Amino acid sequence: MADRKTKYVFITGGVVSSLGKGIASASLGLLLKKRGLSVNILKLDPYLNVDPGTMNPFQHGEVYVLDDGSETDLDLGHYERFVNQSMCSDNNVTSGQIYQAIITRERRGDYLGATVQVIPHVTEEIKKSIKKLATLNGHVDVIISEIGGTVGDIESLPFMEAIRQMGLENDDHDTVFIHLTLVPYIEAAGELKTKPTQHSVKSLREIGIQPQILLCRTAKTLEESIRKKIGLFCSVPSRNVIEAIDASTIYEVPLLFEQHEFSDLVLEKLDIQAPKPDMTEWEDLVSVIKGPSRRIKIAICGKYVFLKDAYKSIIEAFTHAGAENDARVDLVWVSSEDIKHGGAAKFIGDVDGLLIPGGFGERGVEGKIESIRYIRENKIPFLGICLGMHCATIEYARNVCGLEDAHSYEFYRDLKHPVIHLMADQENITELGGTMRLGAYPAIIEKDSFAYKAYGETEVSERHRHRYEFNNEYREMLTKDGLKLVGMSPDSKLVEIIEAPDHPWYVAVQFHPELKSRPTRAHPLFRDFVAAAVKYNKQKSEENEIKAKNPVG
Ligand code: GLN
Repeated sequence: MADRKTKYVFITGGVVSSLGKGIASASLGLLLKKRGLSVNILKLDPYLNVDPGTMNPFQHGEVYVLDDGSETDLDLGHYERFVNQSMCSDNNVTSGQIYQAIITRERRGDYLGATVQVIPHVTEEIKKSIKKLATLNGHVDVIISEIGGTVGDIESLPFMEAIRQMGLENDDHDTVFIHLTLVPYIEAAGELKTKPTQHSVKSLREIGIQPQILLCRTAKTLEESIRKKIGLFCSVPSRNVIEAIDASTIYEVPLLFEQHEFSDLVLEKLDIQAPKPDMTEWEDLVSVIKGPSRRIKIAICGKYVFLKDAYKSIIEAFTHAGAENDARVDLVWVSSEDIKHGGAAKFIGDVDGLLIPGGFGERGVEGKIESIRYIRENKIPFLGICLGMHCATIEYARNVCGLEDAHSYEFYRDLKHPVIHLMADQENITELGGTMRLGAYPAIIEKDSFAYKAYGETEVSERHRHRYEFNNEYREMLTKDGLKLVGMSPDSKLVEIIEAPDHPWYVAVQFHPELKSRPTRAHPLFRDFVAAAVKYNKQKSEENEIKAKNPVG
């Protein structure tokens, strides 16, 4: 297949945002890969930030960090998870990056004499970044480009124009335009409505793009008559109008698409012959996700618990780990600000595990520390991630080592016991964008640890995003009182993993394991954390049964 030309799929969205363009792109990537093709996926984000690293979770949800340290859109997480391929900074391109490159060149004098304009300069730069993926890691059969935003947005126009030109510049069989739209169901009328889709495609055609395949997000089955109507008004054959019905798990989406021969239609347009995909592994995964043998409860105690997109990869990692343990993980979202001293039992008294995620800022930190105290003392499984590890260190220092005012230098500068402090190489940094310790770094793991049991290896590579670290001046004091430092950077300077003694499963890590979990290969730490929670849940039920049989008095 290596002598083949690279073909381009463009996915745009219409009507409303959040229809699942990222999942649709990732699903197509998976289907094509399962058909033996090499694929790569690119997210084009029209905003002017260079990357989402400086945006808060309200604006952007999770910031997804890649091995190479780039801070990217959370859709990259879907791409990596579905296509099972590691992405790099070239897989996420923003308007900010495009303009930054052009303005740098303009200042250098590269355009001397010319007026620098959206067409051709911005559009050429966009096309260059799409085509770059074709040769990045050897030959790629199909590049899928997802255009962020919704058709009609002013800021996405240069991207639309760039992909329109790519359609024009390539042979008809080299590109396919797919438009994801909404077909709403109006309860009072008992009808699915096609007008928003018609208008959305009309807007697309006004800027010169005629989609060849429509993915119609819907809550109800799209009958042939509706598909015919949409096809007629949008100039698309009705078999190219594909139902994208709401699914109970995102991992079912590619299977549902395939029922409507989605990848066949794409390959037909691109004139590629490839065998049907073998989806057995995914069918098995979906069947466990939908019908597991047991259920457990894990609390996530954080600051943005009402904003699930902020914890996207953690949620997915629990789905993967749940599937491997044949268990449904019911997540209990607890706002850390609600937990006051001595009051954790009310919120997490009946859970089988606690996860403290990463985060920034002091709000809610005391509640996190208090909830860690509760699960440490009550021997409930625990996983702490990044800020979660900082909180675990503070909790141990205060409640086990007696360092009453132990805290993190991130929140207070004038501390008697800064058990977490600023990394030395962060001290003189003043710019906030892209300056944390970011991306993949190795960690060396001690054999006598939960972490080693999980990984089965003494050297691992994990992704990071932080400025603060375990203060080495407190190593001796904390380990003397039992805390175990079981994971270190290879030069032993940075603590990467801590564990508590006399506990069924207590692991806190400086990195973000959730970013490397994959659907059919759950992250080892999440897998073992869920396994420990399942065990805890079983023991608890057995104890309750015994109590019920032998009531006191
Ligand atoms: N705010 C902390 C730091 O910068 C933790 C970051 C995180 O949890 N990702 O080190």
